[in-house]
Amino acid sequence: MIDTINATKEFMQRCRENGLRRTKAMEQLFLTLLESPRPMTLNELSQSARLNEQCDKATVFRLVQRLISIGLMRRLGLHERAAYFTLLMPNKHQDYLICTDCGSIEQVEAPCPVHKLEDELREKTGFRNFYHELFFFGTCPCCQV
Ligand SMILES: [Zn+2]
Ligand SMILES: [Zn+2]
Repeated sequence: MIDTINATKEFMQRCRENGLRRTKAMEQLFLTLLESPRPMTLNELSQSARLNEQCDKATVFRLVQRLISIGLMRRLGLHERAAYFTLLMPNKHQDYLICTDCGSIEQVEAPCPVHKLEDELREKTGFRNFYHELFFFGTCPCCQV
C-alpha cells in the first residue's frame, strides 16, 4: 500500500518545482488517482467524489494536460474514446490488462514476473532510470457476451 497523503505531498512539491500554482483541485486529483485501483478516464475523474464539487470537466481536463506536460501523469489506452490517465511514480511500476474491444484498462494484480530480466538488462545496457511496463491485450469478460 502506498501512503496517499505523503505521495500527494510529493506530487504537490514536484508541481511547485515545475512552476505550477498549487490548487485544491490538484491535490484532490492526486488523492483520487492514488486511491484508485486502476487508471481513470476523464469522466471518472471529473465525476469522482473528491473532484465533482471541486471543478468541472474542462478544468479537470486542463489540469490533466498540464500534469502530463510536466511528466507527472500519462495517458494510456488504445484510442481517444477510451483514454485512461495514471500517475507516473518513481520506483513504482505497473503492468496492465487492456480490452481490445471496449478499451478498458485494469492493473495486473499479480507479482511482476520480469524484475530479474530488468536487472539483467540494466546491467547489460548501462541504462539509467530503468523501468518497464507490460501490456496484456485481450477481450474482457463484459465484451465476451
Ligand atoms: Zn471490454
Ligand atoms: Zn512489471
